[in-house]
Amino acid sequence: MKPGTAIKKQQLSEEQIQEICTLYSTGDWSLKRLAKKYGVSKYQIKKAVKGIVKPKPTALQRFNEKWTEDENGCHVWKGYKSKVGYGQFKMNKKVYRSHRASFELKKRPLEPGEVVRHKCDNPSCVNVNHLELGTVQDNNMDKLERFRQPWHYAVIDYLEMLFMYQIGVPIDIIARRFSIKKTTLKSRLKDMEKSAVDPTEDRVFHYRDRAIHEDRVKS
Ligand SMILES: [Zn+2]
Repeated sequence: MKPGTAIKKQQLSEEQIQEICTLYSTGDWSLKRLAKKYGVSKYQIKKAVKGIVKPKPTALQRFNEKWTEDENGCHVWKGYKSKVGYGQFKMNKKVYRSHRASFELKKRPLEPGEVVRHKCDNPSCVNVNHLELGTVQDNNMDKLERFRQPWHYAVIDYLEMLFMYQIGVPIDIIARRFSIKKTTLKSRLKDMEKSAVDPTEDRVFHYRDRAIHEDRVKS
């Protein structure tokens, strides 16, 4: 801009239009954000960038739109979450658990069998600094510990219930000990016996999920 040529309010100079076009074509700037930066209306920005094709956002850009930081520094997923709290994110035509996507987008692609664990115990967190690689065993041990919350039962509790039942402890006593409804307890025990639950199997976790769901629906 030449010295002395004062810009009228709400008017964009050639230089500014150039700048706006450059910013817009990076794909990182929305019309709204540009309007705010240059103190003009969205309509003026729209006019300035006419004919410029905004590139599609990259997977990382889309990803970063989908979380907010909480007071613990966790990047909490705002998009779709599974029942146990893991986010989901689609990229490369595949659905990822969002913490795994985070690791891949911000660190490196995962090898088959590699497990990404949360150091913060928050399944919906996608902060790459709260994630670490681990083994499947690590992860299962974590699950066993983590699901101990007052309103539902950990796998280990179910196994204990089953054990008590098998050594002949009356249903009433088991139900009281775990504050579980007798009817729920009975059906869980039957299920577990029928499929000969093996405490090392992933299937055990399904029992937990089902029981949580049913207890919620019933109460
Ligand atoms: Zn976290």
